[in-house]
Amino acid sequence: MTEKPKIAIYGLGACAGCDQTVVDLNEILLQLAETVDIVLWPLAMDFKLSRIQAMQDGEVALSILSGAVINSDHHEMAALLRRKSRIVLAMGTCACFGGVPGLANFCGREEMFNQVYRDAPTVTNPDGVRPQPETDVGGRKLTLPEFSGHVFTLDQVIDTDYYLPGCPPPPALIGNAITAVLAGDLPPKGSSLAPRKALCDTCPRNSRKPGRMDIRYFRRIHEVDADPDECFLAAGIVCLGPATRSGCGEACIRINVPCRGCFGPVPGGVGSAPKFLSTLTSLLTVERDDEIEEAIDSLPDPAGYLYRFCQPSSILGRKSLREEEAEA
Ligand code: SF4
Ligand code: SF4
Repeated sequence: MTEKPKIAIYGLGACAGCDQTVVDLNEILLQLAETVDIVLWPLAMDFKLSRIQAMQDGEVALSILSGAVINSDHHEMAALLRRKSRIVLAMGTCACFGGVPGLANFCGREEMFNQVYRDAPTVTNPDGVRPQPETDVGGRKLTLPEFSGHVFTLDQVIDTDYYLPGCPPPPALIGNAITAVLAGDLPPKGSSLAPRKALCDTCPRNSRKPGRMDIRYFRRIHEVDADPDECFLAAGIVCLGPATRSGCGEACIRINVPCRGCFGPVPGGVGSAPKFLSTLTSLLTVERDDEIEEAIDSLPDPAGYLYRFCQPSSILGRKSLREEEAEA
């Protein structure tokens, strides 16, 4: 009997939402279980690391890795699965672009640890205890993975063959990606297995997007009673649709919430944040200094908003990595 192709599914630093979405493949997952041998999927089944370590290099047909690379354990698992796999798919926006965990790169390790373990209003930690890589407990050594000091995308630490963005990617795109890999029906290495268009191109509100807009300041979605058919941008509500890759089925737009950019940048551009800023500057119709200031002030936390999903893969992310390396 021919051996079934082996598949590994593993979550690095993230919320496990991408892994959960694989479960949402439902019947497809059951069919898949008949045709492949899932050798690693900690979310759904027990596994022994030694079994993966004992495999031949390249023995796994496909490793699907979600999550950003944040600590020493993630680095080791990513390297191990790269060695054992013929194809590595970065699944989800954290693996592809760094995702929400990547916002940690806006502050250094010290600042982030202080915030998380000392300064956050919900923290009670009078002794200032922090997680340690090694702790002696009754003569026994307990270990924890060590924080890298920087949040990395998957392809910043291992060679990555394909990308599937989304927070999380829709089950249909995950199913298509796995089917394409198993059938060997793949685009060139380095491709994203998601549509190439911008979200605006597939958005049902695009026909209500005027060619010329008159935006003087921005409003946040909770401040207005948004028209369910009107283009958000035309109403002065920040919507990252022009700079975001389509593929989500306009999930947020359809429930009257503007796009926050979770599918990452449109292909071939400078990144979603610079592209969106350039779109905004062309839409604003303010001229006087005070009007310009009012427009800028109406977008609170622009870095957090525009880089929410892609700081590590952006120019800013690469800059903060260089600064981190220089300080080390
Ligand atoms: S800006 Fe937003 S609401 Fe307007 S067309 Fe683009 S995705 Fe749709
Ligand atoms: S509309 Fe934007 S934020 Fe919402 S799921 Fe789609 S890409 Fe993500």
